[in-house]
Amino acid sequence: ENKESETIHEMLQDVITLLYSQARLQNVQINFIKGSNSRLLCDRSQIKQLFINLIKNALEEMPKGGKIDIRQRQVGTECIVDVVDEGPGIPDDVLAKLKEPFFTTKKEGTGLGLMICTQILDKHNGALDILRNDTKGSTFRVSLPISL
Ligand code: ADP
Ligand code: MG
Repeated sequence: ENKESETIHEMLQDVITLLYSQARLQNVQINFIKGSNSRLLCDRSQIKQLFINLIKNALEEMPKGGKIDIRQRQVGTECIVDVVDEGPGIPDDVLAKLKEPFFTTKKEGTGLGLMICTQILDKHNGALDILRNDTKGSTFRVSLPISL
């Protein structure tokens, strides 16, 4: 383990910068909506990997463009980050299997991305919730305890 004090804004900005050119090629706008910055005791590269996996999934569901909102806020002792996409959303049968290793609906998918997210969150006492948007697409909600 390699846990240090890191801020969520910095880690998310790094990830958004990393995925910027892929998003641009696909005509996807990534918006970062910041709440009050949270400090986390975490493995920085793992937390970045977690958001890379979620944002990549969102991008893969949006081949024709659109927007992804990364909405961060602090609620009590939790840091919440919503990754909100405008993809087709998740059918019920898929939702039930989503976190299973090797489950994929993609031709070249590994089905490991979300399993890795779950493992990283377990190690950080965090959680992943998957929500259906009112209008279009899905929201992957990450909750992580802040460092006190
Ligand atoms: P992979 O991306 O290799 O398929 P993941 O574990 O990252 O594996 O995702 C598993 C499956 O969950 C995907 O194949 C897809 O069916 C579904 N999924 C993940 N993210 C989204 C999303 N944002 N919108 C719709 N479906 C999604
Ligand atoms: Mg994936």
